[in-house]
Amino acid sequence: MDDCLFCRIVNKEIGSEIVEESANSIAFRDINPQAPVHLLIVPKEHITSLRELNEDKCDILSDIFRMINDIAVSEGIDQSGYRVVVNTGEEAGQEVGHVHFHLLGGRFMKWPPG
Ligand code: AMP
Ligand code: ZN
Repeated sequence: MDDCLFCRIVNKEIGSEIVEESANSIAFRDINPQAPVHLLIVPKEHITSLRELNEDKCDILSDIFRMINDIAVSEGIDQSGYRVVVNTGEEAGQEVGHVHFHLLGGRFMKWPPG
């Protein structure tokens, strides 16, 4: 999608610090990190939100979670702990309409989230 920020990052039309890339997904550092480790893992296909990630998208979902666990190891947070967040819809604070998985770690986290 031409006017989608994360499609433009996927297509390398906008620069980002890419950490890992596969045929289906890409991981890059969040521009406004909320933790020492804060990456976004997104499918290359334009999918608006978690609501659209149904059983037809199993391959994409498993690729994303494989990537999340790989990156947790390479970023050194697999043993200390990490949090995966998918804001979905307005009340959850989703700002970019291309589904993305926040991977956060490197500090203690509070619960419940704000
Ligand atoms: P959300 O509020 O869940 O939609 O999260 C959107 C995230 O995208 C925020 O954490 C932003 O800091 C991040 N973000 C926005 N623009 C960029 C960009 N150009 N490169 C990397 N991350 C971005
Ligand atoms: Zn998109």
